[in-house]
Amino acid sequence: VNARIAIVGTGFAGLGMAIRLKQAGIDDFVILERAAEPGGTWRDNTYPGCACDVPSHLYSFSFAPNPDWSRTYSPQPEIREYLRRTAERFDVNRHVRWNHDLLDATWDDEAQTWELLTSQGPLIVQFLIMGTGGLSNPSVPEIPGIERFEGTMFHTASWDHDHVLDGERVAIIGTGASAIQVIPQIQPTVAHLDVYQRTPPWVMPHTDRRVTRVERALFRRLPFTQRIVRAIVYGLREIYAVGFTKRPAIMRGAARVAKSNIDRHVSDPALRATLTPRFEFGCKRVLLSDTYYPALAQPNVEVVTTGIREITAGAIVTADGVAHPVDTIILATGFKVVDNPANALLNGREGRNLAKDLLDGKGAYLGTTAHGYPNLFMLTGPNTGLGHSSMVFMIESQIAYIVDGLRRLDRVGARTVEVREDVQVAFNGELQRRMARTVWSTGCASWYLDADGRNFTLWPGFTWEYRRRTRQFDVSSYDVSPAREGVVRGDVSSAHR
Ligand code: NAP
Repeated sequence: VNARIAIVGTGFAGLGMAIRLKQAGIDDFVILERAAEPGGTWRDNTYPGCACDVPSHLYSFSFAPNPDWSRTYSPQPEIREYLRRTAERFDVNRHVRWNHDLLDATWDDEAQTWELLTSQGPLIVQFLIMGTGGLSNPSVPEIPGIERFEGTMFHTASWDHDHVLDGERVAIIGTGASAIQVIPQIQPTVAHLDVYQRTPPWVMPHTDRRVTRVERALFRRLPFTQRIVRAIVYGLREIYAVGFTKRPAIMRGAARVAKSNIDRHVSDPALRATLTPRFEFGCKRVLLSDTYYPALAQPNVEVVTTGIREITAGAIVTADGVAHPVDTIILATGFKVVDNPANALLNGREGRNLAKDLLDGKGAYLGTTAHGYPNLFMLTGPNTGLGHSSMVFMIESQIAYIVDGLRRLDRVGARTVEVREDVQVAFNGELQRRMARTVWSTGCASWYLDADGRNFTLWPGFTWEYRRRTRQFDVSSYDVSPAREGVVRGDVSSAHR
């Protein structure tokens, strides 16, 4: 055994896990990171305009508040820098094996270990903690001819900063959270911008503003003031959970505000109609922007709603046969969430594969453990996503659950832990029943849903309920076993006192 625990990823999940393990006195872990620096999705997404749509004071670790956020909604470079600094401050970098891409993880039931294969060789550990995130693998659309395109093409998650868009004919495919941030940034300098919209999103006015020097000084000198702001922001965001998960009808008022956001910025009635969503407010992620609609109303922009038939060497051809010439195509087409390739790497007991099990609708337990996968913990696993609040809150809930679990297992001298099948089945039954009442089940197509229309992405309730349910590791929901004969326990437990 090379280490007791392997954590995969250095985004909010992996770093937070590592920090909390250290604070709990558990030091025998390695972190595998496929890149050469930390930050996860906040390292990879560097497109112009990239920022978080969850308020800064809430979108940060509770144990590492940052009094220096420059805006109420942080721009990506600040979040990336925050993660880099936090990793240094809590001294977790020395655990990281940079440029180690996890290629396969297989549970060995005899040895009671996970056998990992990384791009730099094998590794054997007792526990595997996946912090690979949902928004880590870009989704590239399968458009006929896409490989024949001779211009420049890149995804928002791997922006080509060496390429100058000024004066070009540019096409952007997609109108999700990434696209609406990019478009206002590039529209003023490109010659022409075609925006390929399949489904118009709901876009609310933004409340982003600069954090004043006085506020920052206050947060620095009297840290409790920032905690109060965080608590208020948290509470206000939870109100959305009522609309999203219990009574979608109460969102009608918000939908009216979003509609007036179109009317305020777009005078052309045809364009207004094109941009008006036809699905329930909240069914897809609600977006925030004051600059998106004004950019679309500019004369060098065309919103193309006819479907894409194919891509040729120099153009996008729409279903009506019209060829739209283009120099650069930007894919703002999102991420592989329900088909996250990280799940396919995980092979559990008796030939199970997590991607297959999830496809079969087996789900997970509390988004953290899964039957058939002993000693595996997932951060941001199935049904932990949110439409209304901070993923960092969910991640910290899971981290506390895992740390508590590891402590309890140690206390009883356990070697393996696996959630009971009946517990997982009951849990998923409850979730899917609740899911039926949410706004995400009102008929829109979204990346929250799998091919069968089931939602294994989001948490269908208040986040405080999730926090409560993960507060203590419920050992009775698990099968726990001691080391098998012949497996020497001492070989892995030396360094976690
Ligand atoms: P997304 O929300 O999945 O949006 C992808 C867009 O591409 C959608 O408009 C989708 O249309 C379109 N699309 C996908 N495949 C297509 C195809 N083959 N042909 C035409 N259009 C296609 O992806 P994203 O904008 O990158 O955002 C993903 C998530 O990342 C967000 O929901 C959010 O959670 C997070 N994010 C957050 C921020 C922020 O904090 N501000 C910023 C960026 C991303 P349909 O709607 O019709 O499917």
